[in-house]
Amino acid sequence: MSGVTSLGVLMGNIADNVRSVHERMREAALRADRSPEETRLVAVSKTVDVERTTEAVEAGVTILGENYLQEAQGKIEQFELPVSWHFIGHLQSKKAKFVVRLFDLIHSVDSFNLAQEISKRAANLDKTADVLIQVNVSGEASKFGIAPGQLEALLDRIQTLENVCVRGLMTMPPYFDQPERVRPLFARLRELMARVKDRNWSPTIRLEELSMGMSGDFEVGIEEGATLVRVGTSIFGSRQ
Ligand SMILES: *Cc1c(COP(=O)(O)O)cnc(C)c1O
Repeated sequence: MSGVTSLGVLMGNIADNVRSVHERMREAALRADRSPEETRLVAVSKTVDVERTTEAVEAGVTILGENYLQEAQGKIEQFELPVSWHFIGHLQSKKAKFVVRLFDLIHSVDSFNLAQEISKRAANLDKTADVLIQVNVSGEASKFGIAPGQLEALLDRIQTLENVCVRGLMTMPPYFDQPERVRPLFARLRELMARVKDRNWSPTIRLEELSMGMSGDFEVGIEEGATLVRVGTSIFGSRQ
């Protein structure tokens, strides 16, 4: 199947798209004097069926990102290939139990209450849940995530939880036509993490990952220090 997405990208098959995204990631890393190994691709498979998701994994995807618990549950059960699942959508505390069980990394923690619930559920499963803190760097009202100024206070409380490990930060800026407009926002997330990274945190606060960049701007994300990019449309085509 081929067609033209809203991003104006001519879509080939999924395997070709995966290769092309990996190649563009590599080039962005080299432009920024970074090692291509420092950034991992999270292929965002929300609304994509098991068969097409499997094609992406066969083409070299190792991490799948899902937004909706119910949809993901069914897919994870049916999925046959080994792959790591990341939860990238907004998470309500009452669903933490399932998300902790099914996912290796939760990108979207934005409150102490949610972290506390995640820790409790992880303890029941005898595990530590890896999470990122979602930060709203643009200050735009409609987006989830904490304000940059709240980060230290939140980490200060989360470090008391025994079964949560904070691995870094995530941001989801508003959509811009020109990817260059997100650059200052991605830079702000990187600077924020650098600023708080070396405080005397407990060992459960390990600030290393920056999840930033989607189909329209993942190269800018990598140039600004992303270690994880979340790419859906450029791999699977546009969603309904
Ligand atoms: C859907 C989604 C993505 C992927 O967006 P594309 O523009 O399709 O690449 C990335 N991150 C989050 C949080 C999403 O909800």
